[in-house]
Amino acid sequence: MTQNSKLSTNTKPIPYGRQNITEDDIQAVVETLTSDFLTQGPRVAEFEQAFANYVGAKYAVAVSNGTAALHLCAMALGVNEESRVITTPITFVASANCVRYCGGSVEFADIDPNTALLDVEKVRELVESKPRGYYSGIIPVDFAGNPVNLEEFKKLADEHGLWIIEDACHAPGGYFIDSKGEKQNCGNGNYADLAIFSFHPVKHIATGEGGMVTTNDEKLYQALLKLRTHGITRDPELMEENHGGWYMEMQELGYNYRIPDMLCALGVSQLQRADAGIARRKGIAKVYDKAFADVPGIDTLTTSPEALREADTGHAYHLYIIRVQDRKGLYDFLREHSIFAQVHYIPAHTMPYYRSLGYSKGDYPAAEHYYSECLSLPMYPTLTQEEQEFVIEKVKEFVQR
Ligand SMILES: *Cc1c(COP(=O)(O)O)cnc(C)c1O
Repeated sequence: MTQNSKLSTNTKPIPYGRQNITEDDIQAVVETLTSDFLTQGPRVAEFEQAFANYVGAKYAVAVSNGTAALHLCAMALGVNEESRVITTPITFVASANCVRYCGGSVEFADIDPNTALLDVEKVRELVESKPRGYYSGIIPVDFAGNPVNLEEFKKLADEHGLWIIEDACHAPGGYFIDSKGEKQNCGNGNYADLAIFSFHPVKHIATGEGGMVTTNDEKLYQALLKLRTHGITRDPELMEENHGGWYMEMQELGYNYRIPDMLCALGVSQLQRADAGIARRKGIAKVYDKAFADVPGIDTLTTSPEALREADTGHAYHLYIIRVQDRKGLYDFLREHSIFAQVHYIPAHTMPYYRSLGYSKGDYPAAEHYYSECLSLPMYPTLTQEEQEFVIEKVKEFVQR
């Protein structure tokens, strides 16, 4: 038994990610419960406005979850049976599934092995191998909280007439620096048509279930508002007819993807601590970086080839991922010590559903190799120093034995 950690044994489970609910959060929800609105009240608009400000986008539309956000984006962009859309195999399957909901085909492109982000050069090869118009769009993912260089994707997209949905579920508060040296927040809409976020409890901002779409495009914004509630509009200016005060018009087939007012109250309250959360995540990442820097057998994911870890990168650290040879051994060993590390992600194209559509193991070697080694260690703002030291100690103990 090693003596340098205060938690030499641990019984309280340490998950890989977890929400942080404060008294203020609880108060905000309780106030909404006794208000006149349980769904679609003033807190929805307040959360949308606050979130749009936070990421620096013109418009935001709050929805029931991140998957609904993706589905609405695919619909608003007109994805249909003819559409072919490119995304990364290293993501939560919802990034790809939204295309299937609309009947379109998903095409994967391999990752950059250093960052595990969708490799823009691989996407370029794919796009340039087909005639113009063959592909409709790209869904890059700010995987683990590491922002993709959207400027590069946008350049490619503009050359070939493609749209971009940025899946920024891992990266509220993240940013990259563009070629003009300007800070570009994830989801700010400058280099993507639409961006989406999730407020699932393991993500930065938790509302239980919840999601957001951000955009600078007014037309897309209006389309999203309508699709969020059954394709119905109550705006007299947008209606074909008007029979009186009760009249509304269902103009296309939408869904009920609304998020209740009380969850938006929670979102507004959570958002106030978002920057503090990111700062704490960066602090945790630094401690891990330092602890593992000289340990043979442990590799980490680099932010980007040029970005030094010491510098203030725009990484939002949703996840802290290490790479080890015996990943299953380490995963099991950590579980024995109540450390619930996780694997992000099983490559989407190897899932039985995508295999049934024609994909096979071996199709994306970088993604599959990455998957064989990756493990996400505990990373959340309320992780204590003692807990993190315990995690580090156990990881090293396993790798060095
Ligand atoms: C969480 C997540 C989603 C889906 O969000 P839900 O709110 O769980 O529906 C989509 N994409 C990525 C990358 C995610 O991490």
